[in-house]
Amino acid sequence: MNFQDISIKPWLITALDQLSIKAPSEIQSACIPPILDGQDVIGSAKTGSGKTAAFALPILQKLGEDPFGVFALVLTPTRELAFQIAEQFRVLGTSIGLKQSVIVGGLDMMSQAIELAQKPHIVVATPGRLVDHIKNSANAIHFKRIKFLVLDEADRMLTDNFAEDLEVIFDTLPKKRQTLLFSATMTPEIEEIQFSSAKKPFVYSC
Ligand code: AMP
Repeated sequence: MNFQDISIKPWLITALDQLSIKAPSEIQSACIPPILDGQDVIGSAKTGSGKTAAFALPILQKLGEDPFGVFALVLTPTRELAFQIAEQFRVLGTSIGLKQSVIVGGLDMMSQAIELAQKPHIVVATPGRLVDHIKNSANAIHFKRIKFLVLDEADRMLTDNFAEDLEVIFDTLPKKRQTLLFSATMTPEIEEIQFSSAKKPFVYSC
C-alpha cells in the first residue's frame, strides 16, 4: 500500500518524501481513510507507530482544500509532546503556508494570546494553559470555527488530573466537529466514549 492508495494528495506525498517516509504505517492505512471521510476515529497503537501523521496528514489535506474553513485543536498532556506534534505539522504543512500555535505552560501568556488572535489553522495545546486563555481572553479564541478536535495520548488525558480542564474546553467547542482520539492503550474511559458517542466512531486497535 502507498499514500496514493489512501487518497493522500501529491503535495503531501512530496512533503513525506522529503522526510523519507515512503509508505503508510498500519495505523495510518487504517485511520486516514475514515478521517478523510468525515468520521470520528478512536485509534490505539504504541508510541512510534506513526500516530501523529495518522491525524496530521488528513487534517492538512482538508486544510489544503479549504484554507479558511479548517481549524484544528490538538490536545496533548505534556509540553514536549505539544512541540513534537507541532513540528510534524510544520514540516508537512510548509507548502500551504500553515499557521499554527503551541499553547503550553511556562511561556508568555501575552504572546500566546496575540498568536491565538491571529486565527492559526492549528492550535496544539496542553489543557491547563488553554483553559487559562479561555478564562482570560475568551474573545481572542475563535473556537467556533473548529472542525477537528484531536485528543493525543487520550488514555493519559482522560484521567482525573485533566478532567476539569477538558470539561471547560469541551464546553467552548462547537458540537458539530470531528473528534479524533489516539492513545497507547484502550482504557475503560476511552471505551465509554466509544459507546456513548452519538456519532459512531471508527475504532482501530493494534
Ligand atoms: P509517532 O508515532 O507519531 O510518534 O511517530 C514516530 C516517528 O515515525 C516520527 O519520527 C515520524 O516522522 C515517523 N513516521 C511517521 N509515519 C511514518 C511512516 N509511514 N513510515 C516511516 N516513519 C514514519
